[in-house]
Amino acid sequence: MGVVGSGMISRTGTRPRDGRITIAVLGAGIAGLVAGYELERLGYDVVILEADSRLGGRVFTHHFGGPGGPLAELGAMRIPADHHLTVRYVNELGLRDRLRPFRGVLSEPHNYLRTGSRLVRVRDAAAPLIREVERFAGGGSHRRETLLFVGWLRAMVHAIAPQELRDSFRDDVNGIFGPAGRLDLAPFLRGDRADLAGAFDTYPELRDACGGRLEGFLGDLLRESGAHMLTLEGGMDQLVVALAARLRGPIHTRHEVVGLDVRPDAVTCHLVHAGSRSTVTWPAVLCTIPFSVLRGLRLTGVDADKLDVIGALDYGSATKVALHCREAFWIADGITGGGSALEGLSRQTYYPDAVVDGGSALLAGYAIAEDADRLGQLSESDRLTAVVDEVAAAHPGLRRPGMVRDAIGVVWGERRWSRGGVARRWGVTNAQRAREVERATRPQGGLFFAGEHCATSPAWINAAMESALRAVTRIDAFARRPATARIGAEVPG
Ligand SMILES: Cc1cc2nc3c(=O)[nH]c(=O)nc-3n(C[C@H](O)[C@H](O)[C@H](O)COP(=O)(O)OP(=O)(O)OC[C@H]3O[C@@H](n4cnc5c(N)ncnc54)[C@H](O)[C@@H]3O)c2cc1C
Repeated sequence: MGVVGSGMISRTGTRPRDGRITIAVLGAGIAGLVAGYELERLGYDVVILEADSRLGGRVFTHHFGGPGGPLAELGAMRIPADHHLTVRYVNELGLRDRLRPFRGVLSEPHNYLRTGSRLVRVRDAAAPLIREVERFAGGGSHRRETLLFVGWLRAMVHAIAPQELRDSFRDDVNGIFGPAGRLDLAPFLRGDRADLAGAFDTYPELRDACGGRLEGFLGDLLRESGAHMLTLEGGMDQLVVALAARLRGPIHTRHEVVGLDVRPDAVTCHLVHAGSRSTVTWPAVLCTIPFSVLRGLRLTGVDADKLDVIGALDYGSATKVALHCREAFWIADGITGGGSALEGLSRQTYYPDAVVDGGSALLAGYAIAEDADRLGQLSESDRLTAVVDEVAAAHPGLRRPGMVRDAIGVVWGERRWSRGGVARRWGVTNAQRAREVERATRPQGGLFFAGEHCATSPAWINAAMESALRAVTRIDAFARRPATARIGAEVPG
């Protein structure tokens, strides 16, 4: 049926058709869309409610100047090749031929990074990185390959890790000098670059030697530093568009859920649409609303443990600023892709692979966690000025008159329907993670839960998909119970 931007939801949709119940899905991000798609494949009728006017949630591709214009990914931008579910849906949705390698931060010889107070090119970074490591490595003579390996590890931590990890790096990396000094790292040094992912995969003792915080972040860090990242040419939102196109049931945009009442036989959703309030009751509801938002809603009939986990889940911020530039001025600086780690407020700057008609889009600033809060707290114009100043220090071409045509930023920590960038499960054991996910996903009567926050490794599209599939299995089992079908029939039509 597709996207329905206005109009009320038909309550007759709650009547069982051929003995089947209708499932309401709250949120049209990846979790909600995948769940809707899979529920329909199982034969359920699905209705999706979305607060925003846009589908996709934290998958948000912006085209400057309208469709087909230069694009900036304001939410998710890359797909690790080992995220099998994401790759599976890309294939299944006919997007396989859009997959391209994603060139990450510091992936190209001409990308910039900061060592001390200086910006250097990746190709020239070895000597300054080694000097930096020597400064904190203490006495003793370390092999060049050890210093270079730790130097690149430090460079990646400073490029992408949150402040607390950067601050604790020296302590967390201290134990690595011993094993790194004994192991043969030469196969993982290509020229003056270190293949961190290859070395950590081959030598688990390197991982064991990292202090707690660094060890907890290593998975994400190695993904970013490895060569196995993909993206969708033409925009990550093609996933969203393709999923929405396959859904038969309606997706009601601009329908904000403001409260949920869970009763033993049904779930009532309190909605606001176009300033009017309404309530609709369904026998089964899948909630993919981030817990950062859900904890601000009025919830009744939800048990204390559930309220506790909804209230306590930690979210890290994320802020992005993209510029629509008249020309791809970075090409004159020898850069055709990848990302620079300028640090400062902008943190990471990504250059587009494709230069299209109508100028180029530069993801000028991408910050996470406290850095994202710092950038996000600025007024829109101060944020733009700060990012432009920092990028222009590396690329004076940005200062040319008329170079910046337009800009857009998203402060995910402040956005009404995300109230955070991504869920964080850092510094906890695998058993604690599993327990927290079990608590987060545990249904309340007919109210089920999914979303990236409902997976042991959150913060990725893959996590949202994984949680959606798990919820669909649970909902199917729930709906097949003979008693449920009866309950469905009793819900007012
Ligand atoms: C800046 C950034 C960069 C990222 N980069 C990557 C990346 O490169 N690769 C990757 O795989 N992942 C990345 N992620 C993570 C990925 O985007 C998310 O894990 C995934 O998109 C989350 O999907 P979801 O469906 O769980 O949540 P969401 O996408 O947040 O969907 C929830 C939906 O619920 C709606 N909603 C909220 N409140 C209400 C309400 N009250 N009523 C009705 N609807 C409501 C929202 O509008 C939204 O559409 C990134 C995230 C961010 C923020």
